[in-house]
Amino acid sequence: MQNLQMVDLKRQYHKIKNEVDTAILNVLESTAFINGPDVQSFAKELAEYLDVKHVIPCANGTDALQISLMALGLKPGDEVITTSYTYIATVEVIALLRLTPVFVDVDADTFTMNIDSARKAITSKTKAIIPVHLYGQAVNMEPLLELAKEHKIPVIEDNAQAIGGTYTFSDGTKKKTGTMGVIGCTSFFPSKNLGGYGDGGAIFTNDDALAETLKMIANHGQKTKYYHEMVGCNSRLDTIQAAILRIKLRHLDEYCTARRAAADYYDKAFSNNPKIVTPFRAPYSYHVFHQYTLQLRGVDRDGLQAKLAKRKIPSMIYYPVPSHKQNMLKEYGTANLVLPVTDMLQDCVISLPIHTELTEEELSYITSNLLELIG
Ligand SMILES: *Cc1c(COP(=O)(O)O)cnc(C)c1O
Repeated sequence: MQNLQMVDLKRQYHKIKNEVDTAILNVLESTAFINGPDVQSFAKELAEYLDVKHVIPCANGTDALQISLMALGLKPGDEVITTSYTYIATVEVIALLRLTPVFVDVDADTFTMNIDSARKAITSKTKAIIPVHLYGQAVNMEPLLELAKEHKIPVIEDNAQAIGGTYTFSDGTKKKTGTMGVIGCTSFFPSKNLGGYGDGGAIFTNDDALAETLKMIANHGQKTKYYHEMVGCNSRLDTIQAAILRIKLRHLDEYCTARRAAADYYDKAFSNNPKIVTPFRAPYSYHVFHQYTLQLRGVDRDGLQAKLAKRKIPSMIYYPVPSHKQNMLKEYGTANLVLPVTDMLQDCVISLPIHTELTEEELSYITSNLLELIG
């Protein structure tokens, strides 16, 4: 089996190559590299897709989170509740703004925020909650939104891994992930479900006033050129990226379907194996499988990874060290925090290749070898 990858961007590109190449060449000819017409068109098309009022493009997903926290006017020392079990960017921006990260545990089946833990973590200093739709699965938003409303705490959704996913409320209402909180953030990093060919990100909101503030902050705190109302930053989505993303957005639903089909194949192959726990699909979530992550039981994970690598099967540990134990946060003293589920998962998870181009032959090769290796 040749050239298996965690994410195969090349084959995906080749399917849309003509369209993408033309779009890039058009931007080159226009020379409107910054804030060209594709940026606004993409924002509008993404807003329609998500059914959200405002989409504010920015430079990357990390900036999207930082700008969101800045727009809420949080002050050093304010507490932000989130999960340790996430990509570090979620947590880094909290520390960067001198806010205090308050870590809560996740559920063992969904890998996402445990709502009871969030409830217990609320204090008078809690000024925001950041749920992370990890691996493509929606956080259980209904009880979280009720909790946040009760305490008047804004929710910022980290939707970097779940764009295209949906959440179903108990009355049957469906909403796209990233559009339920006061603010939603996403990333267009190439390997994300809606990935550009470079960095990119966006912020979503239904609040007009907040949208104005978010736009200002992303643009040096100015509404009128050279009149700066507040300290902001410089965070823009390139026109070339926007032109590419406009094309890829039209394929997003089909990309989600392809990822789900690969996940279905894996699930079936691994079902009823006592050493493997396949990813749970919460009934309220349309899971878009940014990652396909197994939990291993009684398996030497590192040994398995090495043996898979020998057979040219890539795998990854997302994430080898949970955020609360990272040296980055030393001064917050979170390393000894006990988050039993997070700690348990960190030692047993393994992610397999998942992307839009996996063939049945490749899936068969991966699953049969993995099953053989764990015995
Ligand atoms: C990728 C990612 C980010 C950051 O996005 P960048 O575009 O790389 O800055 C933030 N949060 C989560 C959960 C992510 O997976």
